[in-house]
Amino acid sequence: MFDVRGYALVYESFEPLQEGLREALCTLGNGYFASRGASPESSADHVHYPGTYAVGCYNRLRTEIEGRQLENEDLVNLPNWLPLTFRIEDGPWFDLGAVEILSFRQELNLKEALLSRCIRFRDTADRVTRLTERRLVHMREPHLAALELKIEPENWSGHLVIRSALDGRVVNDGVARYRGLNNKHLEPVSSDAIDDETVCLKVRTSQSEIQVAEAARTRLYVGRQQQRLMPSRHEEPGYIATDLEVEARERQSITIEKVVALFTSRDRAISESGLAAREAVAAAGNFEDLVHSHVRLWSHLWRRFHVEYEYETPGDRERTAFTLRLHIFHLLQTVSFNSIDLDTSVPARGLHGEAYRGHIFWDELFIFPILNLRVPEITRALLMYRYRRLGAARQLAQQAGYSGAMYPWQSGSDGREESQRFHFNPRSGRWIPDHSALQRHVPLAIAYTIWHYHQVMGDQEFLIFYGAEMFLEIARFCASHAHYNAELDRFEISGVMGPDEYHTHALGAPEPGLRNNAYTNVMAAWVLWRAQDLLNLLPEDRRLELCDMLAITEMELRQWDAISRKLRVVFHDDGVISQFEGYDQLEEFDWAAYRLKYGDIHRLDRILKAEGDDPNRYKLSKQADVLMLFYLFTAEELVTLFERLGYPFDTETIPRSISDYLERTSHGWTLSRVVHSWVLARSDRAGSWKLFTEALESDIGDIQSGTTAEGIHLGAMAGTVDLIQRCYTGIETRDDVLWLNPCLPEQLRRLKLRIRYRGHSLELEVTQDKVSISALRGTTEAVSVGFADEVHRLATGETRSFKLDGNGRPENGGSQRPQ
Ligand code: BGC
Repeated sequence: MFDVRGYALVYESFEPLQEGLREALCTLGNGYFASRGASPESSADHVHYPGTYAVGCYNRLRTEIEGRQLENEDLVNLPNWLPLTFRIEDGPWFDLGAVEILSFRQELNLKEALLSRCIRFRDTADRVTRLTERRLVHMREPHLAALELKIEPENWSGHLVIRSALDGRVVNDGVARYRGLNNKHLEPVSSDAIDDETVCLKVRTSQSEIQVAEAARTRLYVGRQQQRLMPSRHEEPGYIATDLEVEARERQSITIEKVVALFTSRDRAISESGLAAREAVAAAGNFEDLVHSHVRLWSHLWRRFHVEYEYETPGDRERTAFTLRLHIFHLLQTVSFNSIDLDTSVPARGLHGEAYRGHIFWDELFIFPILNLRVPEITRALLMYRYRRLGAARQLAQQAGYSGAMYPWQSGSDGREESQRFHFNPRSGRWIPDHSALQRHVPLAIAYTIWHYHQVMGDQEFLIFYGAEMFLEIARFCASHAHYNAELDRFEISGVMGPDEYHTHALGAPEPGLRNNAYTNVMAAWVLWRAQDLLNLLPEDRRLELCDMLAITEMELRQWDAISRKLRVVFHDDGVISQFEGYDQLEEFDWAAYRLKYGDIHRLDRILKAEGDDPNRYKLSKQADVLMLFYLFTAEELVTLFERLGYPFDTETIPRSISDYLERTSHGWTLSRVVHSWVLARSDRAGSWKLFTEALESDIGDIQSGTTAEGIHLGAMAGTVDLIQRCYTGIETRDDVLWLNPCLPEQLRRLKLRIRYRGHSLELEVTQDKVSISALRGTTEAVSVGFADEVHRLATGETRSFKLDGNGRPENGGSQRPQ
């Protein structure tokens, strides 16, 4: 269906059934807004779904379903700026489905961030026409996008009508299972013809009252000569079109250039969105100028995200290298330097579709690490999204009977809990209760990301002013959630769900919520433990100020310490960590039978519920749960954590736990494979590589049968790149040292990448038997680099090389990781 060539994703035929997937994969964006790669002549139907989404433009709507009021907040599908089409003589408007396609080529060029399409077709009147189209969403001018369409009549001359429109009549209709819900978020405000070239459309979101303005400037050239034409206009509420008429001549090309500006009332430094949009298109250069400045900016981004690979087998090379680039590309199109002031974080499905309504989950845990080591300014800005919602998180904690800050499972505009209470199971056609908000691990993930951002950046200011306050409030929440079991002399956390969403209820329990989910408890113990370290990192005056402001007393700190040493973790008889209390009493699941019956069983929850059965009965997981611990912590860190908790922890149980849970996981979430690949990286290099390559296919291969069309899986995209960046290089940032502990999979001969660490630009080269690190330039004298048991200072211009024994171990026999 497609081909990858260097930086290009190429489709050489038109496949209506693949169009939704292609639209998502060919989305262009700039961290301010993004538009799906739908063709400019299309509108939403069973094949196409044009969608444009701007960061943070949410709106709430209510719907009555089966007697219940459901309220949802969605990232709104904004007016479609793409429409650009034509008709010959009095014929119908161009429709790719109604002509004979003689040749077709669609190319997404990642290096230039350009989407192009070249089609030759014959229409019913035997006219042969060549169309060439290019488009961009400008990375440097985040409000601008542009489209160029070249029409070349090959064997005909005649009258041509071009239509260029802005269409605000769109609704949110991209996800079939949300179709029962109200989806009309936009109200028309105005449409204006500004001059012969420019029109402006304004709409408003119905509840959040965000004004959205788009201005479009359309120019037409015959050959290279711009034509001054009298346009005619067509308007209806929420829609404005410009028609241009021209006499086309055989073999003479006609080029239409559409430059669009999008502003919203959320933008800063503007007086009014319509005015800003009109002025921006008036000032914009022509299409070529825009291409030039856009490509230039992307060249800088690619330099920052440079990775070089050498593979054992050339076959692996092209597709793997391309897919990693595609993942970096979409990550930067979702969050970029343009996002810094926008009060946003990482929507799980990018700005590429409507699944999960543009909500923000815990996926930053998997996305921030890659940003930390390349563009930490972006991580800092995204962490501020959480800081601004600290008040909402405090309120949520209070409403649930806790103290501190309980960040919601799903977050949108104002930080309230956006998870659905009921969701639609497309397999059974029923609306069923949704308990996923009982996942209390988002605050834990936020604490973890604050800590790790600080480890990489050493950004004391962030910690002092924002990070510490969030962290301490999260610690307080953890402590308030834990309750003391005198019989066991342990603290327990109950009424939660772990990351594995198949388990909502303990066996036979009427109320949702599990006891002692190991992931939640160990993470909570880590937060409560680190809270003390974090206080010690603060200057004394700020520490006292914060403790006073938050009313944190010595007694409370002692209580946190006590809880961090006594949280309960349940183990199976063989020493394997139990996912939650009671997991070992569950039945084994008949994987083979279900695979045979259904083929694709990644969403076993839906399958079992549609059968009237219940996933809670079985030992099965949607995604990594216990194994998340091995993903987030090194074996040494876990040993320390468990020792503090008073549990003997034998590292030998790690491989057993991995294989136990791995074989019981359906990978109902794309990131599950990333986590499993990570935890296998050292013990089973081949297994790790296999899962890595499967995870790479998540979106490009649409391995969840259709879900990519509804939006990319941003976490899996970032997570796969991070497997290369941190896992296989063994980068660990701890105690002001950048530790290296590489373990390349056999398939990788060499890996070279650039990272930023503590103000230094570092180049890292790893082969099977050597790792070298060079300090290219830096703002401080030197950084500390650790290898085996030793820490070395590395100053600008210096390189250090360390030998490996070919199995990823230090040749001098030093320990794998220093204590
Ligand atoms: C997963 C969550 C994840 C969300 C968004 C769900 O399917 O279970 O862990 O945060 O998708 O990526």
